[in-house]
Amino acid sequence: MYDKMNKYDFKKVALYIRRSRADEEREKRTGEDTLVGQLMYMEKYLRNLGITDYDVYKEVASGASIENRKVFKGLLKLIDQGVYDAIAVKETSRITRGAYQDLADIERIFKKNRIKIIVDGDILDLNDYQAAFTYDMQLFMSRAELKQYTNRVTSAKKAFAMMGKWMPGGNAVPFGYQVDEKTRKLVPDKEKAEIIKFIYHTYVYGKDGKEFGYRAISNELFRLGIKSPRGSDRWDQSVIKNILTNPVYKGDVRYNYTEEVEKGKKRLRPEEERIYVPNAHEPIVDPEVWEKAFEKTKNPKRNMHKGNPFKEVSPLTGLIICANCEKHMFKSTQYKQKKDENGEYVKFPVVQLRCRTLGCKNNVKYEAVEEAVVGYLKHLLALDREEFAYHIQNLVRVENRLDEFHLQHKEAQLERINKEIEKWNKRLKAAKEMREDGEYTREEFLERKKEIEEEIRELRAIERQLLQAEETAAGLSAEDIDNARENIEVIYDYYLRAKSNERKNELLSAIFYEIVVKKIRSGYGTKPPELELRCKLKEVVRLKNLLQA
Ligand SMILES: [Zn+2]
Repeated sequence: MYDKMNKYDFKKVALYIRRSRADEEREKRTGEDTLVGQLMYMEKYLRNLGITDYDVYKEVASGASIENRKVFKGLLKLIDQGVYDAIAVKETSRITRGAYQDLADIERIFKKNRIKIIVDGDILDLNDYQAAFTYDMQLFMSRAELKQYTNRVTSAKKAFAMMGKWMPGGNAVPFGYQVDEKTRKLVPDKEKAEIIKFIYHTYVYGKDGKEFGYRAISNELFRLGIKSPRGSDRWDQSVIKNILTNPVYKGDVRYNYTEEVEKGKKRLRPEEERIYVPNAHEPIVDPEVWEKAFEKTKNPKRNMHKGNPFKEVSPLTGLIICANCEKHMFKSTQYKQKKDENGEYVKFPVVQLRCRTLGCKNNVKYEAVEEAVVGYLKHLLALDREEFAYHIQNLVRVENRLDEFHLQHKEAQLERINKEIEKWNKRLKAAKEMREDGEYTREEFLERKKEIEEEIRELRAIERQLLQAEETAAGLSAEDIDNARENIEVIYDYYLRAKSNERKNELLSAIFYEIVVKKIRSGYGTKPPELELRCKLKEVVRLKNLLQA
């Protein structure tokens, strides 16, 4: 607030006071002159802001429209002549109760003369669009006027929404987006959008072949040290659910869906009041992925193993990452037509690894990637001992670099985990006391106790993971390297003899952490595409007899 003051240097301020509707009612009840109180309050407020040069305008008559407010009408003329550079009011609603024509006139005159509005707690600049909307919303949405203007506001909102524009004041800007000041549309916030994508992809496709629900995602974000939209260390599961069900992330806008019945209680509005605008802005999440996530949220338990891409396992399932987008790639089969020897069209399948990012062209022939991966193992085994040792060190070091990132955050993370655990222990203690005082029944207490212990167990598990990351940061010994070579030999051998895709996937997943694929040049005819692979091996590759372990 006071920082904001420094931005402005007011030469002359108009202090405008008038009775609000509530004031009028109070005066009827108590006989007190509310204008005196208001004047004293605002004078003190201006003094605190360091504003001493101001004129007072007191509206004695009451009434909603400017026509009946002679003082304000006169003041507006002076403002238009450039006498003042700011108007001070207790609340924006003192300027007008929101008659539509008045609003437009006032806004125009204020904007033209670059008038700032000093209100109790803020300074609004209508030429700054965020503030302009705060002002609009304060006027339009003030509870007393709400009813009268609902229809008008709804249609204004609708017109605005139809243009794909975002209204601050009405809804908070969704996490992952920001508002483009020029177009007033939502645009992805590069860094935060990545978090949104991570949440969706982890929820829909899992990670490392594992399913992820709300709680698991929350834990994973915590482990990665990514703060929640509100800046807390822990992501509430409901926040994750809200993100996964909000169509804003596939580019659609939803307005006016709920209304507050009483404080904190919401209900759906009647259908005719709701506004839904598809393709209003740039999506963060591929609409196809969004639908998948949404389906899963409807019945998280049942969908676990249904329509799960992991169910249909191919040799490379879960292993391939797009080099451009750093996202998992998926096997996809499309049918194309070609002429056979008799000149008739026949359908033939094209099996590809595809990146799900819209517009990403890094799609490659499935077979070519599988061949390249197996060829890579063969290549590793053909290296002499020294070369192999050097190579393997490098591969596993890549994985460790990830861990180093975590190590840097480790101290802070461990501290946070301990604080969290401490909090839960305090809650457990409180629950015990409530049980002793008879505020909890035995069942209630046991249930609460179970909940708390579950939370603590989760936190301990994350703590363990963090501590283990340190152990893996060590380099590979000569013995590790020998074990790794042996493991790769065995895997390669088994792979060539494996009969099912599941088995092949199991074997590759045993040693590969991930394989980043980049298409350098497309293949054509029988000529295979030119690929670049960046393989990361799992730490376990150094264990003796990995496959038996
Ligand atoms: Zn891609």
